[in-house]
Amino acid sequence: MITSGWKTVSMVDVHGKVTFTLWLCGCNLKCPFCHNWRIAEGQECFTLDMNVLLEELSSSAFLVDYFHVTGGEPLVQWRELSSLFARARGLKPISLNTNLTMVKPLERLLKAELVDHIATDLKAPPEELYGLPFEASRRLWELFLEGLRIVSEYGVPLELRVPVARGLEQWPWVERALREVETDFYVVLNPLVGTPMTSPRDREWCSKHCWPEGEIGFLREKLEEAGVRVYVNHFV
Ligand code: SF4
Repeated sequence: MITSGWKTVSMVDVHGKVTFTLWLCGCNLKCPFCHNWRIAEGQECFTLDMNVLLEELSSSAFLVDYFHVTGGEPLVQWRELSSLFARARGLKPISLNTNLTMVKPLERLLKAELVDHIATDLKAPPEELYGLPFEASRRLWELFLEGLRIVSEYGVPLELRVPVARGLEQWPWVERALREVETDFYVVLNPLVGTPMTSPRDREWCSKHCWPEGEIGFLREKLEEAGVRVYVNHFV
């Protein structure tokens, strides 16, 4: 299993919770705003020593709410992830941050009752935010919707994050995705942050679409009108 490391106590990875967070390498998307793109591309990564990780998780368990696994896209390594979760079961509830497009591996993990919480980004419009050609992005969006249906079917609590972009029409996509969610959930609006605070994969894209302004208030208003619990993360 390939990782870029872990943090024993993090307060920023799941809204309102303290987590022990592990980053796994590799990803099936190429999001232009991604600031973890080195991890997504497998740079700066090493082989995980599962015994060492589990010892550290065990010693920090009393401090945290979740063992949170993020990336990259953790489901790229779903077989190894499944073994890790099986061994970590009982130490702490498990939270998985996934882009929800790898639906078969997702369903296997949920069926095996290895995941207690899911966090995902609602990246829309997909052809802008997935960083892939139009047809592929639209197919991945359909898989994302299926991912939401699967999470709902298994009744796993969901943190639905919206990376808020400047100058893109996102609400119709958010509205569409919400129709698939039938589990306990809330939305976190994450304004896309560009340089100099982060180092996004595609600086040119980010110069057009990072640092949103009125879009945050607009989405918040729409979500609240729809009766959705919503939180807004700020730039700093
Ligand atoms: S933002 Fe997430 S899903 Fe997108 S490329 Fe980066 S790690 Fe992958």
